Amino acid sequence: MISKEAVKRGYNRGNYVVGAPTQPGYAAGIEKVGGEAYFQKDAVVVSADVLAQLAAAVDELVTETADVIAGTRDWWAGSMIGETAGTPATPTAVIAKVSTTEQVQAVMRIADAANVPVTVSAGRSNVTGSALPVRGGIVLDVCEMNKFVSFDEASQIVEVEAGMFGDIFEEMVQKDFGMTMGHWPSSYAISTVGGWVACRGAGQLSTRYGKIEDMVYGMDVVLADGSLITVGETSAAAVGPDLLQLIIGSEGTLGVITTVRLKLHRLPDYGRAIAYGFASFADGLEACRQIMQQGANPAALRLYDNLESGLQFDLADQNVLLIADEGAQEIVDAVLAISERVCAETGAKLDDAVIFERWLDTRYLTGKSAEGFKRSPGFVADTLEMTGRWRDLPAIYDEVVAAINAVPGTLAGSAHQSHAYVDGACLYFSLRGDVAVDERAAWYRAAWDAANAVILKHNATLSHHHGVGLLRAPYMEESLGAGFAVLRAVKAALDPKNLLNPGKLGLEA
Ligand SMILES: Cc1cc2nc3c(=O)[nH]c(=O)nc-3n(C[C@H](O)[C@H](O)[C@H](O)COP(=O)(O)OP(=O)(O)OC[C@H]3O[C@@H](n4cnc5c(N)ncnc54)[C@H](O)[C@@H]3O)c2cc1C
Repeated sequence: MISKEAVKRGYNRGNYVVGAPTQPGYAAGIEKVGGEAYFQKDAVVVSADVLAQLAAAVDELVTETADVIAGTRDWWAGSMIGETAGTPATPTAVIAKVSTTEQVQAVMRIADAANVPVTVSAGRSNVTGSALPVRGGIVLDVCEMNKFVSFDEASQIVEVEAGMFGDIFEEMVQKDFGMTMGHWPSSYAISTVGGWVACRGAGQLSTRYGKIEDMVYGMDVVLADGSLITVGETSAAAVGPDLLQLIIGSEGTLGVITTVRLKLHRLPDYGRAIAYGFASFADGLEACRQIMQQGANPAALRLYDNLESGLQFDLADQNVLLIADEGAQEIVDAVLAISERVCAETGAKLDDAVIFERWLDTRYLTGKSAEGFKRSPGFVADTLEMTGRWRDLPAIYDEVVAAINAVPGTLAGSAHQSHAYVDGACLYFSLRGDVAVDERAAWYRAAWDAANAVILKHNATLSHHHGVGLLRAPYMEESLGAGFAVLRAVKAALDPKNLLNPGKLGLEA
């Protein structure tokens, strides 16, 4: 069973810390903490008066520069490039650690009165720079806001505080309630429930269980002025636009999520997996499309191109499609029967057990996109996930890989299809470059620009689940078109002083 296996096999990341942020691998190589800020300009310095008010309101204040650098460090390649060159991302800030909703409200009231920016910070596992305090001010660390609140067994709804880490959450719902949420991002143990919601994340089994926005029943949110609102709280509604969905994915720019109520599923005791190889990535995509449009929704439907099939499964001459499902036996058998019939038309049967076992063993590894490549000081690897229509995906795959490969210094672009829908799917690209150390930032932006030019040309979606942060900010206005003015207006209405996480989602810093 995939959900049970995930907890049983645990988390195989060497430096993983339970219940607190885990430092990214590059932190181990950081020698000096000085240097100019890489992403801060005109950072707001918190005054002694505000510091005193904060000290009286929160559990702990962190003010030493070295601690602020370590306590704001994220997993973004952009931060890595800056910090390994001696320029920490955002050294000017104070970190306020809180453990209650009342403390969050108190911090927002202090910040509102003094006009100080506030950036929410949780697991810091984001890969877009979204939790970096680019305007300085207060970093609101919510990791100690991590308690279980309640379980409604009849409705299968659990309530937890937003700072609970994912592994602790899932283990609790499995062991205490015999349930699962079915949300398995590869970062599940280094990220928090609130971070999942704030970033609109997706887990590896999303084709059965949905993305995080499908899993939230309701939540409590502290707004910029310190007021507390509750959004959602319904199975379905016709009471105007959905405020819950407005907050989900807002990356800390519209409010601070304090408590989340989430929909659970019964823990499955049946599961199976099959695997096929295809001659081309386009053939594999077509099989995925057929499976989804014929009504099957296997938990995992993952198609790897030649390069990734070679790296992951030692099958470089194949485009490997892994299909795994779990749940009631009647449903799983029907889903896999449809999948098998579709795949047999153009694909070649592979060793199901070997492929499935390899995937279970490696799916939480960090740096998968870098595997198989020599890591010199100028080596940079990153991933780019986007969503497109089935109609466009074969061309998007070819064109994005070609665009990345055409950037001087690129070693290789590749992709897999990771999350599928009736109308389209997410392609998850990996990009790796090796250039002179001081050319890493230029290569990195050139590769992202090249890939995003293709995505924008096809009117596809910039991100499927990693979010926007700083990384995708330059492409947001073009991507949303006239709709971007609406996003700006919503921000101005909810946060007129631009206190909450300024500079993210392409909004003003
Ligand atoms: C190795 C690796 C694999 C990954 N795999 C996946 C994956 O499979 N699927 C996926 O979706 N993502 C993945 N990610 C990205 C990352 O784990 C997610 O974006 C995650 O949801 C971030 O959660 P966090 O708790 O670490 O939040 P942080 O990084 O601390 O914050 C992220 C953003 O959310 C905001 N935020 C955090 N908590 C709150 C809150 N309580 N209220 C308001 N705003 C808040 C922050 O201000 C920031 O803008 C991966 C990252 C890594 C490093």
